[in-house]
Amino acid sequence: MRDPRYDVLFEPMRIGPVIAKNRFYQVPHCNGGGYRDPSAAAEMRGTKAEGGWGVIFTEQCEMHHSSEITPFIELRLWEDKDIPQLRRMSEKMKTHGALAGIQLAYSGINGPNLYTKEVPLAPSPLPIRTFTNDPVQARALSKSEIRDLRRWFVNAAKRSKLAGFDLICLYGAHGFGIFQHFLSRATNQRTDEYGGSLENRARFVNEVIADIRDAVGDTMGLTLRVSLDESIGELGFSNSELREFIEMNRDLPDLWDLAHGTWEDCSGPSRFKEEAAQEQLVRGIRELSGKPVVGVGRFTSPDVMVKMIKSGTLDFIGCARPSIADPFLPKKVEEGRIEDIRECIGCNICITGDMTMSISRCTQNPTFMEEWRKGWHPEHMNAKGDSENVLIVGSGPAGLEAAWALCRRGYDVAIAEARTEIGGRVARECRLPGLSAWGRVRDYRAYQLSQRANVETYLDSQLTAENIMEFGFQNIAIATGATWRRDGVARQHVVPMMISDKAAIYTPDDLMEGRIPGGNVVIFDDDHYYMGGVLAELLVRKGARVTLITPSAYVSDWTNNTLEQATIHARLDEMGVEIVLNRGITEIAADHVLSNCVYTGKTCSYAADAVVVVTSRVGDDLLYQELLARQEDWSDAGIRSVKLFGDAEAAGPIAWATYAGHRYARELDCAPLGDALPFRREITELAAE
Ligand code: ADP
Ligand code: SF4
Repeated sequence: MRDPRYDVLFEPMRIGPVIAKNRFYQVPHCNGGGYRDPSAAAEMRGTKAEGGWGVIFTEQCEMHHSSEITPFIELRLWEDKDIPQLRRMSEKMKTHGALAGIQLAYSGINGPNLYTKEVPLAPSPLPIRTFTNDPVQARALSKSEIRDLRRWFVNAAKRSKLAGFDLICLYGAHGFGIFQHFLSRATNQRTDEYGGSLENRARFVNEVIADIRDAVGDTMGLTLRVSLDESIGELGFSNSELREFIEMNRDLPDLWDLAHGTWEDCSGPSRFKEEAAQEQLVRGIRELSGKPVVGVGRFTSPDVMVKMIKSGTLDFIGCARPSIADPFLPKKVEEGRIEDIRECIGCNICITGDMTMSISRCTQNPTFMEEWRKGWHPEHMNAKGDSENVLIVGSGPAGLEAAWALCRRGYDVAIAEARTEIGGRVARECRLPGLSAWGRVRDYRAYQLSQRANVETYLDSQLTAENIMEFGFQNIAIATGATWRRDGVARQHVVPMMISDKAAIYTPDDLMEGRIPGGNVVIFDDDHYYMGGVLAELLVRKGARVTLITPSAYVSDWTNNTLEQATIHARLDEMGVEIVLNRGITEIAADHVLSNCVYTGKTCSYAADAVVVVTSRVGDDLLYQELLARQEDWSDAGIRSVKLFGDAEAAGPIAWATYAGHRYARELDCAPLGDALPFRREITELAAE
C-alpha cells in the first residue's frame, strides 16, 4: 500500500466552507469538447474522480453572453438552460468524493464576441488580444456596467450552485480573465477609482468576491486564479506586484490559484520547461496570506509533489496535463504503484485539441476524451474476443500501445522489432535536443509489458511475409512505421522536386542515425511541425551554419497549436539560425538551392553544402502488401486477420500512433460496425420554431 512518505499528499484540506479529501487538485483545463460535447467532457472529468483527485475543475466557462472567445469551444453559463449540462459534469466529478469546481470566465480584452456580435467590454478601450489578432476593439466599461458585471457574476455563481458545484474559480490568469485585465496597468488605464493605484485596480475583484460570498459563500469555496507574472516589463502585473496584491488582500479568496503569465508561459512544453518550473515565482507567496495556495508545474513525480508541500511552497498540487496523461495518478500513489504512473511527456498535443477547436487527444493516454464517445476507460480494457494471440510487427508507439492494451485484454502477444532496441521513432527522437521526455512513451509501456507473462518481445527480428506465414499467429498487427522522404515531396512539391545528382541530401532519419552534415546546411521545412526546428538546433550544436527555409509565415508553424512557436523562433534566432520565411525551394543544386517567394515567385539562391529535406514521410507498408498478396494462403497458415495501423498506414504525430494502436487492440475480434458511426456524439436539440 501507500508509502508513508506520501501521506502528506492525502491530508484533507479546507477551502472556505468545503473540504477537499486530499491535495491532488485538477486545475481547470480545456479539452476541445466544451459546450459541443458536454457528455464527453463530463465523463472525462468523472474518470478523474474515479482516479482519486480531491478537486476537479471544469475548463473555462463563459459566464455571460457579452464576452466569449469563439472560435474556441469552452463551456457556457449564459442562462438557466445551460444548467443541466453543467450539472451532469458536477455530478460526474463528485462520484468519488471529489470537490466539483467551475471556472467562471469573463474574457474582457480577450473576447472578440464573434458569435454573439456584442461589443466587447473591458477595463480600457484597446484592441482585443487573441491568438488571431481579430480586427475588433473593446470599449471601456462604464461604472454602471461594472455594477452590471458584478451582478452577472452573482447570477453565474447562483447558477453554479444550482448546477451542483462546490467551488468557483474566478479566472484572472493567462491574460484571459477580466480580473487580470483590471489588475494589470497594461490593460487597465482607467483614471477613476478602478484604475491607477494597486488598491484601485484591485477594487473590482474585491467587489466581485464580496458579492459572490454574500450570495453563495456559505456553501461554496471561492478561488482566484491569478497570473504569477505577466512578464511584460514595468507596465505589466509583475511577480512583485502580485505579492503586494496578495499581502494587501490576505484573505480575499478561500484559495490562491497561481499560474504563470500567458498560457504559453504556464503550459510550456518539456522541450523548454522542466517539471516544477514555476517554483521560484511561487515560493514565499504562501506566507503572505492565511489562505491555501495551489500551483502547477507539470508535476508527475510524487517526490517532487511532497517537496512542494514540505518546503511550504504549495498546499495543493495543481495538475492539468499530468491528470490528462494519467487520470489515475492519485490512486496509483495511494496504492503504492508509483511505477504504474503514466507520466505526461510535455508534448502539448492535448492543447492542440483546443487550439484547433476539434477534440483533444493525449499522446500518453489514448482514451482521453473517448471515455464517453467510445466507452474507453484508461485503466480497464474490454474482455478478450474469441481468438488467442497476436503478432505485432514493429515496436514504435503504435505497436507498443497495441501490445499493452492487448495483453490486458488477455491475448498472448509477441512483438517483433527489426532493430536492437524498442521504441521505434520515439527511441530515436528522444535523443534529439529537448525531446528526452518523449522517451516516456516507450518507457511506460516497456515497464508495463515487462510485468506481463503473456507478452514476448523479439529484438533484431526483421520479419518477412514468409516468416509470418510460418509462425502460426492468428492475428497479425503491422505497425512498421514510416520513413522520411528524400525527394522533397510534401506540400510545395506534390511530385519529386528538382535535385542535382551532386547535391548532398539528408533526411531527418539520416540525422537521427548520426549522419550529420557540416558547413552551410539548408533545412527545407515543408513539414511545419517540430522536426525542422529541432534539427536546426542539432545542426548548430554540431557546428554547422544553418539556414532554415520554409514556405510558411512561421518557423515550425503547427507548433502555434502546441504553444511553443514563439519560443522555437526565439531559440533558433538566438542560436544564429538564419530563418527564411514565406519562401520555398524550387531546385537543389550541388552547392546552392534556388528559393522562390511564395507570393511573387521571385527567386534567389542560398549557398548549401548540404540540404536537409524535412518534408513528409512514406509508410513502410511493404510487409503488409506482401501479406495481402498471399491472402488466399492465410487460413492454411492459421491467420484470421492482418491489420496495418500507425505511421505505416498514414504518418502523423506520435499521439495518432498511440491512438491507432489502442483502437486496434480495442476492436480486435469485435463485430464490424459496418457503416455505423464509430463513436457517440451529441446533436443540439432543435428549438421549437
Ligand atoms: P509508429 O509510430 O506507427 O509506431 P515507428 O516508426 O515508431 O511507427 O515504429 C515502427 C517500428 O517497426 C520501427 O522500430 C521499425 O524498426 C519496426 N519495423 C519495421 N519493419 C519491420 C519488420 N519487417 N519487422 C520487424 N520490425 C519492423
Ligand atoms: Fe502530456 Fe502530451 Fe498528454 Fe498533453 S498530450 S497530457 S502534454 S502527454
